[in-house]
Amino acid sequence: MTSRDEALAALARVIDPELRRPITELGMVGDLTGSTIDIKLTIPTCPAAKQIEAAANLAVESLGLTVNLTAMNQDERDALKLQLRAGRAPRTNPFDENSVTRIFLVGSGKGGVGKSTLTANLAVALADQGFSVGLIDADIFGYSIPGQLGITDKPTQLDEMILPPVAFGVKVISIGMFVDGSQAVAWRGPMLHRTVEQFLKDVFWGQLDFLLIDMPPGTGDVAISLGQNLPTAKSLVITTPQTAAAEVALRSGALGLQTGQSVFGVIENMSWLENQDGSRLEIFGSGGGEAVAKHLETSLLGQVPISVSLREGSDQGKPVVLENPVDPAAVAIQSLAKKMAEVKLDLKGKTLPMA
Ligand code: ADP
Repeated sequence: MTSRDEALAALARVIDPELRRPITELGMVGDLTGSTIDIKLTIPTCPAAKQIEAAANLAVESLGLTVNLTAMNQDERDALKLQLRAGRAPRTNPFDENSVTRIFLVGSGKGGVGKSTLTANLAVALADQGFSVGLIDADIFGYSIPGQLGITDKPTQLDEMILPPVAFGVKVISIGMFVDGSQAVAWRGPMLHRTVEQFLKDVFWGQLDFLLIDMPPGTGDVAISLGQNLPTAKSLVITTPQTAAAEVALRSGALGLQTGQSVFGVIENMSWLENQDGSRLEIFGSGGGEAVAKHLETSLLGQVPISVSLREGSDQGKPVVLENPVDPAAVAIQSLAKKMAEVKLDLKGKTLPMA
């Protein structure tokens, strides 16, 4: 006869794909009756049910056991939520001035410069370096992160707690996961404010090393709301070589001022196209990255070339940093991710100008 302890030892290898912890630590293993062991899903409609069932069956197969899927009751779910919040009260912001997560607001003066593509790839590159990474798609009107990372799952909801889908090791939340694909998001300020706040407070992030936020282009409600909620965040500005001087002054300057965050630096995207012979064709001109960096009194962190692999990867939901890591754009992004990983935490709270 197999004991429950033996079953627990075997099941400790089964990791819940959303919570990223062994199911044995999450109170998901139930009774052992004869040769059947109960596995309790967080909710009956858990999208990872099949995956958990298969992994659990595989783990207990050699013990002669089979898995019976059931679901937690409300008391068990409450206990799990309490455990996941690690003592924090419900609906509080884990990213306040005491947070040890390195937070980057990725913004741009205008759309179409590759902000989302770079944010997705930087997040995946950081996760690939072994960091625990979260990504918020706050580009409410132009959300594209789920597509870039091939995410079709909806987040699981444990009452008020939202479990973010995980792709390539990155926990991701996006407004795109809450609306019908064809539905245009036309929300007004207060609603946007609440949504973004909800992403910070209600999503189960766990202990993150990095949180990247894909900001809407330009400035506005979302930027201000995030600025207030994320006092330790640094902003990262994406631009292209052709950015006109007026645009630089107006938009990226305003971005820095409105969020009140320190600027970490500028990334120039689509800097050149590399020819077969190694020479570079500067399709969009040159100097945009330097100009924006100068304007914001910060540094140009790096330049990412135009890349077919990068574009294809983002269309297919397969980030280039993993799909084709030797691609010049992938190499540039990996080195930018290393620079982000070198950031030292400044735990002193900052006063925000718009408060
Ligand atoms: P934004 O978030 O700034 O609006 P996106 O990340 O959606 O911009 O990128 C706009 C388009 O440009 C996408 O089709 C993306 O695949 C493509 N793209 C971004 N960066 C590059 C690059 N370095 N080389 C080739 N295509 C790129």
